[in-house]
Amino acid sequence: MQKFFGNSLKQLVPSKIRSSIKKTSLRVANFGTRHRCLLCNSNVKSFLPFGFSFPVLTEKQVVGGSYRQGVLCPVCTSLDRERLLHLYLIHKTDLFNRPYKLLHVAPEPRLKEVLQSSPNLDYLTADFYVDTVMVKMDITDIQYPDNSFDAIICNHVLEHIIDDGKAMSELYRTLKPEGWAILQVPISHVLESTYEDSSIVTKQGRELAFGQDDHVRIYADDYVDRLTQVGFKVKVFKWVDEIEVFGGENNLFGLNKKEAIYCVSK
Ligand SMILES: [Zn+2]
Repeated sequence: MQKFFGNSLKQLVPSKIRSSIKKTSLRVANFGTRHRCLLCNSNVKSFLPFGFSFPVLTEKQVVGGSYRQGVLCPVCTSLDRERLLHLYLIHKTDLFNRPYKLLHVAPEPRLKEVLQSSPNLDYLTADFYVDTVMVKMDITDIQYPDNSFDAIICNHVLEHIIDDGKAMSELYRTLKPEGWAILQVPISHVLESTYEDSSIVTKQGRELAFGQDDHVRIYADDYVDRLTQVGFKVKVFKWVDEIEVFGGENNLFGLNKKEAIYCVSK
C-alpha cells in the first residue's frame, strides 16, 4: 500500500516540488544555529562525518581524504571542500562579477547548480566517466584550442590520472594567458615526496597504497613543483589566515582547517 501511495505521489507531484519538500523537511530536522551551508542556504546544528577509513590515509595524514567529523551537509550533501571552494570563489575571485568562460571538470554537484545559475558565466561542464555533464573530456587530451578558458576548476581529478604531467600541460595550454585555475588534490604534508607506484594496479592494492581504489598516487608538497614544471605559477591560499571571512573560530561553514586552495595562473 505504501509503495502504491509512493508511486502515486511520484506521478502526481513534479520532481522539482518533491525535491523542495524533501529539502524543507531535512532543513527542519537538522535545524540549528551553529553552522551554515551557503550552497543550500541552510542553518544546521552540525555537519555529518564522511571520508574513507583506509589506514594509509590516517598514517599519511592525507588532507581531504580520510574519515573525519563535520564534513557533509545534512541537507544538500555538499562536502567541506565544496563549501570552501564556493567561499573562495565568492571572496577571492571576481568569478561572479564579470563575464567568464569557465571549464568545470568533474563538477561538484551543489557548486555546479550555483555556477549553472550564474548569468555572467559561459559555463562548460566535463567529465570522462559520467554523462551528467555537457561534454566528455579526457584531460590528458583536451578537445579545445589553446587559450580557450578564462578559468578552470578541476578538483580531485589529477590523483586518478597516471600521466598527471600531461593533464597539467593540457590545462595550462587551454587556459587563457590572464586566466586562473583551481586544482585541488588530496595531499599529505608529512610524506617527503609524492608517492606513486605504477606496478600497483588492482583496486585492493590501490586502496591499501593510495587510500582509494581508483587513485594512482598520494601527492605531497612537491605537488607544487609538478604544477610549476608545466609552467604554472602557484598560489597556495590558507583560509585560516583569513578566518573571519571564512566563518570564524567556530567554523560556521564546516571547513577543513588543514585544507588550502591551490590556485594556479599562467
Ligand atoms: Zn547544504
